[in-house]
Amino acid sequence: MENQGTRRCRVVLVPPPFQGHITPMLQLGAILHSKGFSITVAHTEFNAPDSSKHPEFFFLPLSDNVSDIDSSFWNLLEVITAINVNCKEPLQRYLVQMMEKQEPHDQVCCIIYDSIMYFTDAVANHMKLPSIILRTTCAFNFVAWHATPRLLAEGYIPLPESLSNELLPGLHPLRSKDLPFTGTGELELLEELRKIRSSAAVVWNTVDFLEHSSLLQLQQQYQIPIFSIGPLHKMAPALTTSLLKEDTSCVAWLDKQAPNSVIYVSMGSLAMVDKKELTETAWGLANSDQPFLWVMRAGLVDGSDQCVDLLPKDLKEKIGERGHIVKWAPQKEVLAHRAVGGFWSHCGWNSTLESICEGVPMICRPGFSDQKVNSRFLTHIWRVGLEMENVVERRGIERAIRRLMVEKEGEEMRQRANELGQKFKFCVQKGGSSYNSLNDLEEFILSQSS
Ligand code: UDP
Repeated sequence: MENQGTRRCRVVLVPPPFQGHITPMLQLGAILHSKGFSITVAHTEFNAPDSSKHPEFFFLPLSDNVSDIDSSFWNLLEVITAINVNCKEPLQRYLVQMMEKQEPHDQVCCIIYDSIMYFTDAVANHMKLPSIILRTTCAFNFVAWHATPRLLAEGYIPLPESLSNELLPGLHPLRSKDLPFTGTGELELLEELRKIRSSAAVVWNTVDFLEHSSLLQLQQQYQIPIFSIGPLHKMAPALTTSLLKEDTSCVAWLDKQAPNSVIYVSMGSLAMVDKKELTETAWGLANSDQPFLWVMRAGLVDGSDQCVDLLPKDLKEKIGERGHIVKWAPQKEVLAHRAVGGFWSHCGWNSTLESICEGVPMICRPGFSDQKVNSRFLTHIWRVGLEMENVVERRGIERAIRRLMVEKEGEEMRQRANELGQKFKFCVQKGGSSYNSLNDLEEFILSQSS
């Protein structure tokens, strides 16, 4: 049920069906709603957000016809392509209906879509509505994507093994193996994702001081306004966006732990590990003597609903009370807890921002896409993380945990993470860069409707 009141105009949001993308889009919706806009969320049926958690929004399910497609991690490109084909007609049809019936005070003034939902551009054009893109990765990820034609010409794509450790010219600190794609197979999709098309502006979930030169570079390239209003979770009123049920039992467990003693382990919503890595990680954690909170999402290890059952019995006994395992955690609350002193992460962009905000240094174990870019920045530019490359054996893992949690090196990273977190807080306060940029975005949206 949507909250009716005197509203300015209606913004239609189009998020893709992935946790790391739905969350920032709903956060943006909550921010714009607090500024007086009405919000419609046009979403896929696959991985649909829970509308009962957001009575202030109107939800529009789009029939996506992907239920027959394998939606496992390895087949995401096919799912994304199908969504872009199948959702176009329903979105257009709904918008026509909405706009035929709309009251003067409730006119649709713009569509904001995630880069992954690129079909939206054609719909917006057809409806003569302005559109804005929401980018949910770091800005540098797009700097790297835009460099693909040059990298192709210079032979860095596909990646020859012999060059994988070389720093890429013009893309410091990335090596060729850190490029946010693994080969030519993904280039067609990347081409779609990096296009601006006819969009009037780009909204970025990043912070100006953190990525100033990348944002300037993209601004010159795009020639349309860029609004960097991150971190969105600090700009938005608190809201529940999890697609999976959060197990809050871990907070009571954290309450019993000493300050900064717990290492939090989570690989986000999509990344997977094999059984060997799961077991070695568990031994590394067990041998480190640090308490840990570990998210073992269903599907973290291919096909397994109960990953904890894959651990050998003697290992579970060794872990005992020192480790707490959940299927999904209230991550922002966990990272803000005084007991958490480190985050072993796949380095998704939301996790990266959430960790820095709370001054929690990281062990970076990136898997794919922008995670590799984020990891390089965390470890080599912001220096708040340890790089875990190719280390999937228990002694290396135990060593990394000690370096982060008990040694001086980790303490210095925690100090730097705290300083960055403080700066983030200034950015979202009155007069800060994200606060100002949000006001500019608000004016911009209103100017589009007049
Ligand atoms: N998350 C959560 N509970 C968990 C693990 C993750 O709430 O147990 C949230 C996390 O706070 C973040 C999102 O899921 O907002 C994951 O997004 P991210 O960009 O870090 O990674 P992705 O899942 O897209 O790979």
